[in-house]
Amino acid sequence: MSNGRMPYAASISDRLGNPMSQTTLKGSCLCGAVMYEVTGEPKRFFHCHCSRCRKASGTGHASNLFFQPGALKWSRGEEQIRSFKVPEAKRFTNIFCGTCGGRLPRQVKEIDAIVIPCGSLDDDAPIKPQARIFHESRASWSCTGDGLSVYREGPPL
Ligand SMILES: [Zn+2]
Ligand SMILES: [Zn+2]
Repeated sequence: MSNGRMPYAASISDRLGNPMSQTTLKGSCLCGAVMYEVTGEPKRFFHCHCSRCRKASGTGHASNLFFQPGALKWSRGEEQIRSFKVPEAKRFTNIFCGTCGGRLPRQVKEIDAIVIPCGSLDDDAPIKPQARIFHESRASWSCTGDGLSVYREGPPL
């Protein structure tokens, strides 16, 4: 399962027109003021070790689940949502609760995906992590060695 080939398998079945299963997941921020529901096809699940993810998450890597295509619905507290776009980044925006700072999902138009910070989920993730990306930026103390595929930089497309 953790051989990093899932993304290819998923895109091939898309081209063949096989219906992928739609999944709905619920999540919330740390204080519970913001709640969301996301519906789509779980496609990719990466641990991202890039410096932006480290700064934004305060830990060794972000664990991001990619849904595609999909719908993101705020079921509570939408007015609490804050965002910070890294000025020099093409599309790195941190979305978080203005009260507790907990990270929240974002819609990324450029890659037609919803990126879910997996730790914000109240439901279990529908797929397992597939790879570690931006491993070149990994902090020396960060977890590793679990047999997942490792990519020096960006994710396999
Ligand atoms: Zn909150
Ligand atoms: Zn990252």
